[in-house]
Amino acid sequence: MAGEVKIGDIRSGRLSADEISQNFSDLHAPLTELQAIQESARCLFCHDAPCTEACPTDIDVPGFIRKIASGNIIGAAKSILEENIMGNTCGNVCPVEELCEQVCVKNTSEDKPVVIGQLQRYATDYLFECSIQPFQRGPDTGKHVAVVGAGPAGLSCAHRLAMLGHEVSIFESRTEPGGLNEYGLAAYKMLDERAAREVGLIVDIGGINLETGQSLGTDFNLDDLRRKYDAVFIGLGHNAVNALGIENEDIDGVHNAVDFIERIRQENLDTLPVGRNVVVIGGGNTAIDIAVQMKKLGAETVTLVYRRGVVQMGATEFEQTVAQTNGVLIRTQAQPVRIHSSDNQLRAVEFEYTEIDSNGQMTGTGEAFELPADQLFKAIGQSLDPSPLDGAEVPALVGGRINADPNRRTSLPDVWAGGDCTAGLDLTVVAVQDGKIAAQSINEYLSINEHLNHG
Ligand SMILES: Cc1cc2nc3c(=O)[nH]c(=O)nc-3n(C[C@H](O)[C@H](O)[C@H](O)COP(=O)(O)OP(=O)(O)OC[C@H]3O[C@@H](n4cnc5c(N)ncnc54)[C@H](O)[C@@H]3O)c2cc1C
Ligand code: SF4
Repeated sequence: MAGEVKIGDIRSGRLSADEISQNFSDLHAPLTELQAIQESARCLFCHDAPCTEACPTDIDVPGFIRKIASGNIIGAAKSILEENIMGNTCGNVCPVEELCEQVCVKNTSEDKPVVIGQLQRYATDYLFECSIQPFQRGPDTGKHVAVVGAGPAGLSCAHRLAMLGHEVSIFESRTEPGGLNEYGLAAYKMLDERAAREVGLIVDIGGINLETGQSLGTDFNLDDLRRKYDAVFIGLGHNAVNALGIENEDIDGVHNAVDFIERIRQENLDTLPVGRNVVVIGGGNTAIDIAVQMKKLGAETVTLVYRRGVVQMGATEFEQTVAQTNGVLIRTQAQPVRIHSSDNQLRAVEFEYTEIDSNGQMTGTGEAFELPADQLFKAIGQSLDPSPLDGAEVPALVGGRINADPNRRTSLPDVWAGGDCTAGLDLTVVAVQDGKIAAQSINEYLSINEHLNHG
């Protein structure tokens, strides 16, 4: 009909299956053997290497690069995995431009840093290709530890505990283990079955029972775990998403970015519903990830709107560049004020420009603009809903997350916690380190208890 405005132009297959598969190919092509050797030869093998200092998991970077340079690829992979059992995932998803590669002494105006992340991936990929299990469980201590959540924090903790000879039971609410490695990281960073093969490497050492479909707070509670096990580690990540706090947040076409990202990771990409015009609200990596992936799925326009300035965006400069080179338009200094709909279907999002007032506070300027939208993705952060922790005693929280000390001990003497459910940077590599540190601390606690019991 002439003049008719079509509301909700959302459909699957905006691009051919081949185009979609091409768009979702590797963000960084893997290094060839020659490239790996050439790149490792660029390393200066610095004493007190700043790259190792900058690595949250303390990987001996020059040590593993030297092994690659001498052709000992399995040795290199083993050095990486000894410190970071998810060294393969981290080689793909770590913001290296803000960690090890940023501080690499080769990172000067005349040169560029050694590509540490890609070398890490090269070595660990090779270990997986050779189907080598470099670790084995330590002699049985007779102690049994419960781990809640099979994400990077929980899996890393379980692996280190098993290496130290403790038996571990992991309770995971989802059907598949891996946490956000399996359900959240961008599909073009985590190709194929990378998350699953890493879980295989971890669990295969023995002494780890993985129970999926088991939720803390529903199927059992913290009191049950503390009664049955010698110690407990909590790594349940973020289990809630922040709301915009405006009307119409639940109408058709409005999604939580993390829920849709999970569909991108788990479903056939050709069948996903994709809007012609997509709007994303948020400034962190989740916002960038959904924006880039919607563009790769064939959305005609994708506009990411952030309420503050570019420098305040949580997404790294590299991630912002990835978004822009994929055709995402980034608009800053604007906040959503209204979601417009017709027949319960999203039609447009209205924004108000923002500015920083003389007190340093962000305020709306009163000027507005509207973006037509078939789909709107909310990516303004995830948080911890502490209700699953309920019990006779509850671990203390700080800033809405579980309060864990430097050894990742909570306020309860036999309970540790780490990863996104505790304070700190929300990164895979940080969650892995938390799990590792907690396991070492749990081991000390169990050894002291054993000593006292036999003393
Ligand atoms: C969209 C997105 C993209 C990201 N991209 C990157 C990136 O590129 N690089 C990077 O370094 N980091 C990235 N991150 C952050 C990174 O994924 C997290 O910091 C990391 O996964 C945290 O690990 P975790 O083990 O604490 O939590 P999670 O990975 O969330 O794992 C927690 C596990 O606990 C389970 N669980 C929850 N509640 C319960 C319960 N009640 N009982 C039992 N089990 C439960 C969950 O199902 C889950 O499996 C990204 C995050 C998101 C959301
Ligand atoms: S800082 Fe750069 S050059 Fe020095 S050891 Fe690390 S990777 Fe090699």
